[in-house]
Amino acid sequence: MNQNNKGKHTVCIHEGQIKDKQFGGAISPIYMATSYPFLDVEDKRYPRYFNTPNQQTVANKVATLENAESALPFSSGMAAISTSLFTFLKSGDHVVFQNEIYGGSHHLIVEEFSKYCIEFSFTKGLDPIDFESEIRSNTKVIYIETPSNPLLSITDVKAIAQLAKKHQLVSMIDNTFASPINQTPLDLGIDLSIHSATKYLGGHSDISAGVVAGSKEMVDKIMYKGRNFGGNLSDFMCFLLERSIKTLALRIEKHNENAQFISEALSKNPSIEKVYYPGLTTHKNHDLAKDQMHGFGGMLSFDLNENLKASEFLQNLAMIKPSMSLAGVESTVIQPSLTSHALLSAKEREEQGIGDNLIRLSVGLENKEDILGDIEQALKNCT
Ligand SMILES: *Cc1c(COP(=O)(O)O)cnc(C)c1O
Repeated sequence: MNQNNKGKHTVCIHEGQIKDKQFGGAISPIYMATSYPFLDVEDKRYPRYFNTPNQQTVANKVATLENAESALPFSSGMAAISTSLFTFLKSGDHVVFQNEIYGGSHHLIVEEFSKYCIEFSFTKGLDPIDFESEIRSNTKVIYIETPSNPLLSITDVKAIAQLAKKHQLVSMIDNTFASPINQTPLDLGIDLSIHSATKYLGGHSDISAGVVAGSKEMVDKIMYKGRNFGGNLSDFMCFLLERSIKTLALRIEKHNENAQFISEALSKNPSIEKVYYPGLTTHKNHDLAKDQMHGFGGMLSFDLNENLKASEFLQNLAMIKPSMSLAGVESTVIQPSLTSHALLSAKEREEQGIGDNLIRLSVGLENKEDILGDIEQALKNCT
């Protein structure tokens, strides 16, 4: 239950909506204006200032879902991530990153940070002690991602938040895989929750967007940085994102149900070596996931038996399409070793447990029997 005591579905549908005073229409009008009256220096409305009506609508909806005071919509998940990180880091600072994080975030860190003399460490594991042991005197930020991509590992959000408070660090989480329906990290003490809204918040594989949610004080700081960096979301995209979020809670419930069903069925399939899904009691962090999440999500991974070829399995799939992205209404698959994690060395991949036979499945909203049926026929038809 969020602060305004309304249920998630109600918040998804109604929160933040713009009243159409002119015609009384049922939905938010789109305000495309880039020019508004200049009232005074403090009160300027402009898209890059993150304060147009449609931007504020998305911000209010996401903030309420995240139990946050404030939120900001960006033009991509990476715009939200990079702007948030650069807001709280400067030359000479250090940041601790979880070792298993989204490939794009990894590239941002290793390709850009040293140019700005920002130091960073990746943890060796996901236990709180792995994070604490990387903290230095100049550490300013701690950054996690849970469930992680592609192995759906779970980091103890509350423990990391406490660690951040103890060492006076800003704590950030990439909450994309869970969505605010399955995980509300601010309730567990995290400062900033970030999403690639290109994924579940958008949900229909047709929107590029990102959001960050947190206290008004921190989000205002990110907003001022964002005005310099210019990663704001267009009003038209805000309208589409608002429309998508109306069904977010409904979609996530179904993603959760379908992924649980598929992961249980695949666990019993002799062609599958191992299934990674936090909703399985056999998952190494199942209890922790149960404790800190409201649902286990629509993402899962599995290792094919070593006598099967991943490329052949993917080709055999009839309905489920290989795709770089995830979290749409349609089920999609990828082979992380060739896509999201292709730029890591074979040794780095091996260290992270990402083998060539690992398949990541974004379980969509089709009938679950049809999703499973496609996987089973693709396995059966491998030579
Ligand atoms: C896709 C993704 C991102 C990046 O989002 P973009 O919208 O592509 O910039 C960040 N984190 C996670 C976990 C993602 O899946």
